[in-house]
Amino acid sequence: MTATSPRVSDARTAGSAAAVEFRGVSRVFGQARALDGLDLALRPGELLALLGPSGCGKTTALRLLAGFDTPSSGQILIDGRDVTGVPASKRDTGMVFQAYSLFPTMTAADNVAFGLRMRRVAATTRRSRAAELLELVGLGDRGGSYPHELSGGQQQRVALARALAVSPSVLLLDEPLSALDARVRVQLRDEIRRLQLAEGITTLFVTHDQSEALAVADRVAVLNAGRMEQVGTPLEVYGSPATAFVSEFVGVVNRLPAQGSGDGSVEVLGSRAALEGGGAAGPLTVAVRPEALTVGDSGGVAGTVLSATFLGPVTRLVVTTDLGELTVDAVSRDTLPRPGEPAHVRLDAETVRPVPA
Ligand code: ATP
Repeated sequence: MTATSPRVSDARTAGSAAAVEFRGVSRVFGQARALDGLDLALRPGELLALLGPSGCGKTTALRLLAGFDTPSSGQILIDGRDVTGVPASKRDTGMVFQAYSLFPTMTAADNVAFGLRMRRVAATTRRSRAAELLELVGLGDRGGSYPHELSGGQQQRVALARALAVSPSVLLLDEPLSALDARVRVQLRDEIRRLQLAEGITTLFVTHDQSEALAVADRVAVLNAGRMEQVGTPLEVYGSPATAFVSEFVGVVNRLPAQGSGDGSVEVLGSRAALEGGGAAGPLTVAVRPEALTVGDSGGVAGTVLSATFLGPVTRLVVTTDLGELTVDAVSRDTLPRPGEPAHVRLDAETVRPVPA
């Protein structure tokens, strides 16, 4: 389920990044089990996205690692050291929250220098470090601005600079992009990744947005109801989901009836394909991503286009058929059917996967 990403070792600055480990960590609030025996290891220098739906325990895990909360059972280790009982101020972590976490009465530069002041770093060093970090996040000329004079994206850049100022060994990001509009979100996401790679800092990035997780992370950990479903590279969790939950949560998936022939192949939508992992004869259900389907004038299953969304190289079509609504990412072209028009949905893949249990 896990695999080494080449980017991790490339990114690592020798000696500066910490390993992090959750060992059988549970957190119970009254009747609610927010985390249920979480085992998760972050490698030095990697960006791990903790992904899952609202209420699955992501923020709880992050708060436990930061030291803002204590596990009901289990251990948390940073670089092999048990920090379970160590207060937040002594854990050497930097944190960026969802939004609006800057001190409103301090300038951007003073916000960035705040952690250094707490550590009694000399004023001249604080000023130069703050200036350097603001430069790094593209706000070199805004050190004198107050938070209300900055856009949401700029405020989050300052928050990132503030978290990095104390050179923490672990960076914690709690849905840092969720309050921003779509364009700024993508820009800042890429910037966070660039900085994280440049600094080689071990990072836990909490998000409920699967496209964000897949785009930014070395590995993605999918959490559901306080339990880990799968940890793997973006390609692994997208292409080989370990459970039905991961399959549904990470990306769009069509569930289609298939007929196994017993020789490792299946028939789906009238086409023959190899079945991942082989398989027996008889009826089964396969999981097919939108890009593994296409539309044509005949064959497959007949239906009517409900919607068509141009996404650049592909157009996402939702087609109503006797098998339910199917989502198809067809290569964009003039001749694609439009909403209200008939379309035949066909398989466009040589291999299909059975739906995981
Ligand atoms: P979201 O994406 O909505 O922020 P999340 O995945 O971060 O969700 P958590 O905030 O970790 O989820 O919450 C996990 C579960 O624990 C939820 O059921 C939540 O109601 C519960 N919970 C979290 N903190 C507390 C608390 N202080 N007291 C009681 N229950 C809590």
